[in-house]
Amino acid sequence: MGDRGALEPALYCYHCEFCLSGHHNVCANIRFLSNPNHPGFFRELVNLPSPTFFPSRQLSFAEAALSEPLAIAVHSLRLTSIRLGETVAVIGAGPSGF
Ligand SMILES: [Zn+2]
Repeated sequence: MGDRGALEPALYCYHCEFCLSGHHNVCANIRFLSNPNHPGFFRELVNLPSPTFFPSRQLSFAEAALSEPLAIAVHSLRLTSIRLGETVAVIGAGPSGF
């Protein structure tokens, strides 16, 4: 306790075929915090499995908070053929454009 870092808001089962093959991001039983029936991070304490914590003393709290949405954006861009300087539309209600 007391380490600075980033948290992944998804909870994985670590037992399905995807988790066991190292692709936990597509876990068959994935649950996301801050969704109905799962409380989010707007509380004083959160208890999560240790694999969801990525320690980093170099990140500020703001940078750590933005690292997961940034990772989604970078991963999404890598799946496209969009090039620097091109115009795109991001459609969606959430901060990541879902
Ligand atoms: Zn799983």
